[in-house]
Amino acid sequence: MTAPFLSPPQLKSFQKRLLEWFRAYKRDLPWRANRDPYRVWVAEVMLQQTRIAAVLPYYERFLKRLPDVASLASAPIAEVLKLWSGLGYYSRARNLHRAAKEIVAHRNGKFPRTLDETLELPGIGAYTAAAVLSIAYDVPLGVLDGNVARVLARLHAMRGQLREPRRWRELANIAQEWVACDPPGDWNQALMELGEVICTPQIPRCEICPVSKWCRAYKLGLTAKIPAPRVKRASKPVKIAAAILRDRRGRTILVKDPGAHDQVLFSRMWQFPAVEVARDPRAELEKHLRTTLGIASVDLQELPSARHGVTFRNITLLPFLAHIGQLPKLPRTRILSLENLSQVPISNATRKIAAALSRAPAH
Ligand code: SF4
Repeated sequence: MTAPFLSPPQLKSFQKRLLEWFRAYKRDLPWRANRDPYRVWVAEVMLQQTRIAAVLPYYERFLKRLPDVASLASAPIAEVLKLWSGLGYYSRARNLHRAAKEIVAHRNGKFPRTLDETLELPGIGAYTAAAVLSIAYDVPLGVLDGNVARVLARLHAMRGQLREPRRWRELANIAQEWVACDPPGDWNQALMELGEVICTPQIPRCEICPVSKWCRAYKLGLTAKIPAPRVKRASKPVKIAAAILRDRRGRTILVKDPGAHDQVLFSRMWQFPAVEVARDPRAELEKHLRTTLGIASVDLQELPSARHGVTFRNITLLPFLAHIGQLPKLPRTRILSLENLSQVPISNATRKIAAALSRAPAH
């Protein structure tokens, strides 16, 4: 365990300085407009693994259509997914929707006020619970995400891998000890903001950092060495061939495919017929169309491929176009105009496959 490196009076001065800086320079973000737990919760979920700039338009649109927990709970999941469409990691939207239903059904429509109750909701882990409860209800729970961990590790000159369980626990303890200052939500946000705009991963801006005088890594010249680079998991190459079947009226068919790649890549949303392939993408896709849609013979024209990275998978999308006299009418399929794809929930991978049509030479 790292010994506390600030005496109680020093810690007080440090906290006072960081809070002053946060209040003076905090960014004007829509989820900071008030302390409504619903608004904070939606923002925290959207911000997981997604940059602020990317989240902003989605957040505004989502809140405009679903302004409170009751409207989210009563919305059809297809609509929630459509509003989320393009943000990725769709299990976040599904869990948000399930949790909203639970809050309405069992908690009188009110976001819980305790950690234990909050952790019972689907998709809410320690970080999201601490963020929402501290910001919305002043519950003194310290948050620990990648940004906060990096700031705390540098302040303590703590070397090594941040995600190593023992070290992460140590950082969580520090975050919890330091949150005992008023109001805890501002304190947590100040640490996050420092990590996002000043104490950035590659080149921290120590020369303008409000707390540099307390920072051990800065004093010791270790800022570039902390945190230690993450050991990357080898990414697995995967090839997915997909068919854009087009009839004379410019319509195509989308499916809900129970294939193994469906959940990871297409997020259980509407997608083009697709299959993971190995040696001969065209032949393997033809076989897939035959067995799943009953399409006996089809002339598949190759379209430009696209890269798609999902966590540790390195995916190459291989789109094909085929003109077809009649699209099959089957359960779990949907026929719609290629121009209207955005009317149904689709994932980014499906969007990339559709975009291959416009990148291809005239066909
Ligand atoms: S002095 Fe530099 S390394 Fe230390 S907290 Fe500030 S920005 Fe981060």
